[in-house]
Amino acid sequence: MRVLVVEDEVSLAETIRDGLVEAGFAVDVVHDGVDGLWQATETPHGAYDVVVLDIMLPGLSGYEVCRRLRAKQVWTPILMLTAKDGEYDQADALDLGADDYLTKPFSFVVLIARLRALIRRGAPERPAVLAAGDLTLDPGERRVARAGAPIAVTPREFAMLEFLMRHPGQAMTKTAILENVWDAHFSGDPNIVEVYIGYLRKKIDHPFGKAAIETVRGAGYRIAVDGG
Ligand code: CA
Repeated sequence: MRVLVVEDEVSLAETIRDGLVEAGFAVDVVHDGVDGLWQATETPHGAYDVVVLDIMLPGLSGYEVCRRLRAKQVWTPILMLTAKDGEYDQADALDLGADDYLTKPFSFVVLIARLRALIRRGAPERPAVLAAGDLTLDPGERRVARAGAPIAVTPREFAMLEFLMRHPGQAMTKTAILENVWDAHFSGDPNIVEVYIGYLRKKIDHPFGKAAIETVRGAGYRIAVDGG
């Protein structure tokens, strides 16, 4: 079992290396995010069974490393090391594609148990490209296309379309859309949803003579399963 450890605190990195080697792992250690990304990407596919990734790293943060690896379709399981008082939290780590996290300081026994569990589970199936007819949305690459033609959308429009496309054929209420695309405490004008639905239609539907986004009277909006 081969592990890549990305940790900038050299003494901690060495402690982790020694412990993992003793537990029978082959271990490579790098000390910044840029090297971590390179090592995890350029090492022949599948060479690492798991990556231990610190968050606060010079060069690139662990979050950025994680995001870029997933965007490059590298699905090696990632365990993130988070600090209790850090500016990020565990939810962020999981959102960005990490598979598990451990808060520093951690027990070695727990680290090894978690790594073994991740390795047993293997690289999970990742979200494939979402599709409704010829309308596609790639959550990893953050791309939207109609019949293969790329469509530029803003991050908010992307989030809204992704939310609808994850529930194909199902009407989503304005409230559900607000809570998922804005946030649970959104206190502005809920008609913002209609405004953004309009923006999206102008980009993904009208130029193609399609109507993927359907208004369901009294219920909300849904994506037509066949793309309109
Ligand atoms: Ca660090």
